Amino acid sequence: MLPDLSVTPISHSRLADVDFDNLGFGNVFSDHMFSLKYEHGRWQRPEVLPYGPVAVDPANATLHYGQAVFEGLKAFMGDDGTVRIFRPDMNYKRLRDSCERLCIPAPDEAHFYGAMESLIQLDHGWIPRKRGQALYIRPLIFSDESHLEVRPSQAFRFLVMTAPVRTYFDEDTAAIDLKVEEEFTRSAPGGMGAAKTSGNYAASLFPGEEGRKQGFAQVLWLDGLEHRYVEEVGAMNIFFRIDGKVLTPSLVGTILPGVTRDSVIRLMEDAGDPVEERRIEIDEVMTAIREGRMQECFGAGTAVTIAPVGGISYHGEHLTINNKEAGEVTRRLFDEVTDIQLGEVTDRHAWNRLVSVGAGAGSKRAAL
Ligand SMILES: *Cc1c(COP(=O)(O)O)cnc(C)c1O
Repeated sequence: MLPDLSVTPISHSRLADVDFDNLGFGNVFSDHMFSLKYEHGRWQRPEVLPYGPVAVDPANATLHYGQAVFEGLKAFMGDDGTVRIFRPDMNYKRLRDSCERLCIPAPDEAHFYGAMESLIQLDHGWIPRKRGQALYIRPLIFSDESHLEVRPSQAFRFLVMTAPVRTYFDEDTAAIDLKVEEEFTRSAPGGMGAAKTSGNYAASLFPGEEGRKQGFAQVLWLDGLEHRYVEEVGAMNIFFRIDGKVLTPSLVGTILPGVTRDSVIRLMEDAGDPVEERRIEIDEVMTAIREGRMQECFGAGTAVTIAPVGGISYHGEHLTINNKEAGEVTRRLFDEVTDIQLGEVTDRHAWNRLVSVGAGAGSKRAAL
């Protein structure tokens, strides 16, 4: 699939050391990584290398000015031994948009898919098999030029790494509590909130830590202009079910257009119960909870899939949603998305990209 791919295999696999019953999120990486350099105005020869450190010059422009974009997607191995990557075409489109916003040349589609597929073929033994687990795929593009001038770089590196992961939030833990962030913002009109770039995360760390110290799993961001409209949660998009109607903030340029968000919208449409995308005031949200009209609330993102929200704090008032339990639609959507990802139901929108990994792959993990 990538005719000029150069492969340097590992000499000793680390797979036997992995405890698949106690996976974290992105702290263990599969044996190989993909690497592609951009130099002299074009992408060079793609390589697969043993996973490991890359040399970075102290003047590397990414370290100083943050010219970097990334993606996050998941591959699953079903009981049928087929590997499915969930909606990678959406991630490719978003990567291209992020690249454009940050003056980074986008890699072509063939390199994007070829990178993931070659890694999955080599490291398919790393794909976990339990429901809720997955192989997380993290493509990353960063400036690989050494200079301290503030200007777009001319050399980049595209890396893809994979990691066996559990769902981000423990399935056994109760629904999460969100703190509405009233002081800080993660993005502003005209900023880069719609791009998946490291700088957005840097902006979110301090408020996130403050929230965590107060016992909140995540902060709920409001718009950067008026602090009045709900935007998103920072690694997931937000949905409310009020008076039986599912709502989500419309994509106004400051919100990351999530693939999971889009999947929820499509599945609700299929169910004949379309999601209303519009501006949602935080006051409307709090009033609905107070009056008992908020049936459920959930976040949607690749890491968590669908995560129930059990409470929201705003202006010193903490309100509980649905007894801190996952609601009916939350559960149904989690199951529907998971079933599609594992190939257990018909993939009616052709969301999965299938990767064949050779006979016997399905039983590989069980034999470990
Ligand atoms: C990645 C991300 C999401 C979720 O997007 P998915 O494509 O569903 O994983 C939401 N918000 C932010 C800021 C993100 O970076």
